[in-house]
Amino acid sequence: MAIENSKKNVTFISGDKTYSMGNGHFYVIAGPCSIESEVQFLESARSVVANGACLLRGGIWKLRSSAQAFQGLGKAAFDIVQKVTSELHTGIVTEVTDPRQIESLYPMVSIFQVGSRNMHNYALLKELANQDKPVLLKRGLAAYIDEWLKAADYVETSGRAQVILCERGIRTFETATRNTLDLNAVAFLKKNSPYPVIVDPSHAIGIGELVPDISLAAAAVGADGLIVEVHPAPKEALSDGPQALTPTQFSQLMIKLEKVLNALDRKLEKK
Ligand code: PEP
Ligand code: MN
Repeated sequence: MAIENSKKNVTFISGDKTYSMGNGHFYVIAGPCSIESEVQFLESARSVVANGACLLRGGIWKLRSSAQAFQGLGKAAFDIVQKVTSELHTGIVTEVTDPRQIESLYPMVSIFQVGSRNMHNYALLKELANQDKPVLLKRGLAAYIDEWLKAADYVETSGRAQVILCERGIRTFETATRNTLDLNAVAFLKKNSPYPVIVDPSHAIGIGELVPDISLAAAAVGADGLIVEVHPAPKEALSDGPQALTPTQFSQLMIKLEKVLNALDRKLEKK
């Protein structure tokens, strides 16, 4: 299966390289759920870049269900991001949770992430439409595909910001896994929307040892890439430890992904 290109190719810059998502190649974004310290972020970032991730992820402001849970380092993470991204010559995608964060995050990010809980936050989407970096728009916890596409339209109205859709699992009656990965949505959107579509297997299944399996399924169904959580010591993570891959699990996943993609005449775009 040679995947069809997206109608819209989304260009982003990571360190010294420019990438064009939507061109049929497969892009892996990886890193910890949250940036917890310089040592933790550097260790995660080094391992994912060494194994071919083309962009880092790492939460600075976290939207947690409990007010008592770790909320992210906030501005204290900025110096850490500067150091790690310049040392590894790479960029970062991080979640913007409030329109007031856009200006300070802008110089640092390659892509702005809008989290699942904010897919319907139209004030945030309208502000992001006024800047020119791509927006990774995660699907709402229980959003219809149609609502998701309408949210994407808010971002794209200005013609400046481009959208990458991210399927991260939806709420269903099933509770054995954290969410239910909707691979139907990926196939449907690749056919019926102009946007690149990536998959977040970590939030979709919520169980680290099963993340590689559904990552391969995402590649097989035609996704443009993945955003995966990787932590040097998942048991010690301040958020989402149970779903994080270890660096070793991540490197094994990348080897398998490349085999699946090659079998489908697709290229794993590496750093
Ligand atoms: C995240 O990426 O860490 C996150 C909170 O994702 P979501 O918005 O999909 O829950
Ligand atoms: Mn997370």
